[in-house]
Amino acid sequence: MRDGVVRLKGKGLYKVVPGRPERFKAYRVQHNQARGPYKGGTRYHQDVSLDLFKVLAAEMTWKTAIADVPFGGGKGGIKVDPKTLSSEELEALTLRYMYRLKPLIGPDLDIPAPDVGTDGTIMGLLLRQYTDGERERHKLRGVVTGKDTRIGGSEGRVRATGQGLAYCIQEWFAERGATPAGSTFILQGFGNVGSNAAEILSGLGARLLAVNDSGGTIFNPAGIDVNDLVSYVYDNPRNLRRTVGGYPKAQQISKTDLFDIEADICIPAALGGEITGPVAERLKCKLVAEGANDPTTPEGDRVMAKRGIELIPDIIGNAGGVTVSYYEWIQNKRMEHWSETEVNGRLEQAIKSNYRIIRDIARNMPRRTATHNSSRYTIGKEIDMRTAAMVLALKRIEAHYQLEGFSQ
Ligand code: GLU
Repeated sequence: MRDGVVRLKGKGLYKVVPGRPERFKAYRVQHNQARGPYKGGTRYHQDVSLDLFKVLAAEMTWKTAIADVPFGGGKGGIKVDPKTLSSEELEALTLRYMYRLKPLIGPDLDIPAPDVGTDGTIMGLLLRQYTDGERERHKLRGVVTGKDTRIGGSEGRVRATGQGLAYCIQEWFAERGATPAGSTFILQGFGNVGSNAAEILSGLGARLLAVNDSGGTIFNPAGIDVNDLVSYVYDNPRNLRRTVGGYPKAQQISKTDLFDIEADICIPAALGGEITGPVAERLKCKLVAEGANDPTTPEGDRVMAKRGIELIPDIIGNAGGVTVSYYEWIQNKRMEHWSETEVNGRLEQAIKSNYRIIRDIARNMPRRTATHNSSRYTIGKEIDMRTAAMVLALKRIEAHYQLEGFSQ
């Protein structure tokens, strides 16, 4: 390990199929551990790079601080399109990845979780490989989060990122004396974050008008039935790419047309860099609520600010996932299993109070209420929401350097 970057030895040679060696690039970046063990997802995607993982690991450091969970930031994964592998190949690759990673991680050192292209099944494989041959394996259950609920995963973890985003959006409406009921939204990405956010928001009475993913873009001005779309994408064996493209109860439109649709909220919940300057010029929404990591470019931010489009930044918008990862980690340590009601009750309180602190920082309104205390964090002037979120993150991290003399 050098400069916080873990280099997996062996030039990335992973045997996927016995007898047919193939090389894959694999990574784990450990960015900061001032507040607790490194924490962050494992991404399997064809477009990853060391630079991308460095950015995503740093963002986990800010996100865990904003969520106020006792973790630092890390991120890793493999440069591969998992959709091109059979389940046996995916299993072999995952086990091999953990074989190399094992000396560098641990339940109190670095804790991977799902991200783009990985899920609870992959987490189960990582756990299996990590605990293989260990005498006290049950003590090690917290080495990964996002596991299946039958093997120590937390209730509510699968939906947690979408749920956290929905809590932020509810709070945004609450400030205006309103609720999401009757509002409209457009969505980019129908993976874990996008599909769950859409389900929860439609349950709150919001209407989904359009969705884009890597396989197509669909639009229905009368509203899309989210449950029906979920079964089209996920329960349909003929939909091999698991895409919204071709959904029969909506018009097929082009990706660029998505951003011209008038809606209250735009939710980017796919990959980074999608809301560019030119895209932000076209947007006809009041709020961009970021479910993806890093979906908006700096130019996109400037255009949105100029046009008065409001923002729920990613590091609070999608912090629900890592928050429930923390609950999973506690449950593992205590050998407990909490109900979904208990998990969501805690999550709602945590996300909403941290969201309120960020909003108070942005407005320069220090307050101490029954639900939140922003008095330590305001900086004497008004700032935008993304900067406000960074102020909260850095102040919480700074306390460890100042009070604890943390020097790593
Ligand atoms: N991959 C998720 C994220 O980007 C979750 C990370 C975690 O739970 O550790 O926030």
